[in-house]
Amino acid sequence: MKNKLYSQEILEEVYQLIIKEGDQGEVAQYIPELSRVNPDKFGAHLLTTQGESFGVGDCQTKFSIQSISKVFSLSLAYQLIGDKIWERVGVEPSGNPFNSLLQLEADEGIPRNPLINAGAMVICDILISNLKEPATDFINFIREISANKAINYSESVARSEKSVGYRNIALCNFIKSFGNIENDANEVLDFYFHMCSIEMSCEELTKAFMFLAHVEFRTKENNRVLNRHKSKRINAIMQTCGFYDESGEFSFKVGLPGKSGVGGGILAVHPDNYCLAVWSPKLNEKGNSYRGMKFLEQFTTVTESSIF
Ligand code: GLN
Repeated sequence: MKNKLYSQEILEEVYQLIIKEGDQGEVAQYIPELSRVNPDKFGAHLLTTQGESFGVGDCQTKFSIQSISKVFSLSLAYQLIGDKIWERVGVEPSGNPFNSLLQLEADEGIPRNPLINAGAMVICDILISNLKEPATDFINFIREISANKAINYSESVARSEKSVGYRNIALCNFIKSFGNIENDANEVLDFYFHMCSIEMSCEELTKAFMFLAHVEFRTKENNRVLNRHKSKRINAIMQTCGFYDESGEFSFKVGLPGKSGVGGGILAVHPDNYCLAVWSPKLNEKGNSYRGMKFLEQFTTVTESSIF
């Protein structure tokens, strides 16, 4: 492919430029624990499919990955039940905020896609129905695909979100009223809040997402996470739905499949080339990291590595 070689220098050049341009936005306020995060944190990590690893700033500091986790739960559910997933959740961008209730009434409880909150709750419900110990099995799945036992839920973040989770509680009950949640709504919500509370660093995220970048990826136990057919589809959903009502903008400016979280993290995948994670807690009005978006746009521009 036609691009400059990925290097520590390029990562640093982009990082310094984005620092110089200044930050904007606000740290997520609606989850008390997240509102206390230092807004000036900023890090990025790049891992290529060749195994080259480059990091800048706070790339080894763990943060709340929030909705980035929805890709892990979707991947595990896809591994477990295959295409039956699409009977319960769609694959269309919603064009609406991540926590919107608006379309569910007309769509009779079938969420537009698995990366908005409503869709992620249906995926949590599928996991609860198909795993023996959902919380343990799910965290072990992430530990296994990233060969890293030091990945955990944050009980304080999960509790904090639950204490103010009015909208998510409404969403889950609303979907259940249409029959698209099989398990107890409280159990689904508890698993959902825990899933969102997982803490990882940029460096850990790039390793954990390698199964979507590298066709030949195998875990230490020599297992394939998803076959090529399935990982292609997860990347396609990230491309079209990973940034809620800013997904078109991300595709337009960055040109990679990716997923954001309200903790300020963004993970982007370049199939066959690299995983790149950025963290900066201040969010723009769509709930995506302000500097994270800028960083990725600048990176794919200077390296000429958008997928288009
Ligand atoms: N836990 C968050 C919520 O449900 C996740 C949202 C996000 O990261 N976009 O509101």
